[in-house]
Amino acid sequence: MQKRYNVGVIGATGMVGQRFCSLLANHPWFNVTALAASSRSAGKSYGELMEKRWQLAVPFPENLAELRLFDAEKDKEKLVPLVDFVFCAVDMPKAEIRALEDSYAKLNCPVVSNNSAHRGTPDVPMIVTELNADHAAVIPFQRKRLGTRRGFVAVKSNCSIQNYVPALFPLPDVQDVLVCTYQAISGAGKNFTTWPEMIDNLIPYIGGEEEKSEQEPHKIYGTVKDGVIQNADSPNFTAQCIRVPVSDGHFSAVFVRFAPGKKPTKEFILNAWENYRGPCDSLHLPSAPEKFLRYYPEDNMPQTKLCRDLDKGMAVHIGRLREDSQYDYRFVCLSHNTLLGAAGGAVLMAEQLCAQGYMD
Ligand code: NAP
Repeated sequence: MQKRYNVGVIGATGMVGQRFCSLLANHPWFNVTALAASSRSAGKSYGELMEKRWQLAVPFPENLAELRLFDAEKDKEKLVPLVDFVFCAVDMPKAEIRALEDSYAKLNCPVVSNNSAHRGTPDVPMIVTELNADHAAVIPFQRKRLGTRRGFVAVKSNCSIQNYVPALFPLPDVQDVLVCTYQAISGAGKNFTTWPEMIDNLIPYIGGEEEKSEQEPHKIYGTVKDGVIQNADSPNFTAQCIRVPVSDGHFSAVFVRFAPGKKPTKEFILNAWENYRGPCDSLHLPSAPEKFLRYYPEDNMPQTKLCRDLDKGMAVHIGRLREDSQYDYRFVCLSHNTLLGAAGGAVLMAEQLCAQGYMD
């Protein structure tokens, strides 16, 4: 019989935290037993706090309404005994996030994080379960550094890379990638009520996003060696990231060049996407999509509104593969930024880590 785990959500009042709560409220493996946020929210019930702040189109999870929020920093000794591990998505300075996450890990409470603070830490795995689940093998080395029996930190990558890297990952010999991303406003923790300036507008700058979109893929493509993730040094990525007036769903236009003499046929690429199986497919994890990579032959697909929520918002939608006059091929990709790209992907990673025994 499947073991059930008690879990906490740190940052439960935020955009990603709300997604966590809606995904976890009726999860088959996880019971939400603790919620935390800043001192501003501490002591209040989740129902009271979210009465005017619930931002998702899905209903508020009423079974969490009575839980009283902890102060994530001051109350950790009270929170940790209530949970087997925590999810974390907070808006704080990076050094403070690293300190917060390490402090939970050192209390022997594993942390599954959506924050970027630890993405560059060499023994912290940055996992997209459908791609590099094997990076969890670095966890015992991190535990040794932290001096913990079971505590560790594992992180998600930035949401922007989770629409184009999955499409590139099954293709061998990729050398150069140029990508333009068109990113939804929920990626900034906003909707059209809280950010009316985005209606009928776009903003050609998202702080730090282009660097993350170019650098983070190298960790996903990396390998576990000598107790750390050794980043790959290819493919080369160059990115422009643009905020667009879309509620949810990050889109990208991708141009790809292969190593000299290694350009595959269009049929090879379509077959690689069609037949791609994630490394954890045989574990039948509850949040895994039925089909991770979905190619649409129609010229006007994939479309954000039509596709982002399909397959629990955990699939990657690809279209318009064609030859390019400067690169070898070009195509477009789409995925849900707060489901696959954030909370959904973190819940899937936690399921993977439970199935592999890292949460026991
Ligand atoms: P958000 O909506 O602004 O929510 C921020 C959360 O952080 C709130 O719960 C807030 O609690 C909490 N917080 C702020 N200061 C705190 C403190 N000192 N101690 C404890 N909790 C504190 O932000 P978000 O969009 O959910 O993003 C959260 C994190 O996820 C960020 O690091 C972001 O980069 C990352 N992320 C976001 C997305 C996305 O698509 N939105 C995707 C990937 C990753 P109060 O309500 O009490 O202030």
